[in-house]
Amino acid sequence: MATWEDVVCKAKELADAAGRKVADVADLTKQKLKLAENERAIRDAMEALGHLYYDNCKGDPLNGELVNELVCQIDELKAANEELQATIDNACGCKTCSCGGTNPADAAFCNRCGNKLN
Ligand SMILES: [Zn+2]
Repeated sequence: MATWEDVVCKAKELADAAGRKVADVADLTKQKLKLAENERAIRDAMEALGHLYYDNCKGDPLNGELVNELVCQIDELKAANEELQATIDNACGCKTCSCGGTNPADAAFCNRCGNKLN
């Protein structure tokens, strides 16, 4: 699992790469592309940070009510999604792996990641 240091390191790498590339790019179209690329990278980093924060703060009594509330909301949403996925799998006659791969109902292993299916 990633640590805070990993996330901070990755963020620094992204910032350095962004700084270097902006200097070579004069064309507006290329800058717009780079902007979109950076926005994607920021979203990815934010998501990773969120996952890390969620994993580290879950069940910690020192965290504020808001964090606990968010953790509860995420857990509720995950549970609701598991039920929804099961309903969808049932309706389409397929099995969805935790990796997101969709498999035939009689599959024993995921055709995307190779994990054993329930
Ligand atoms: Zn899978």
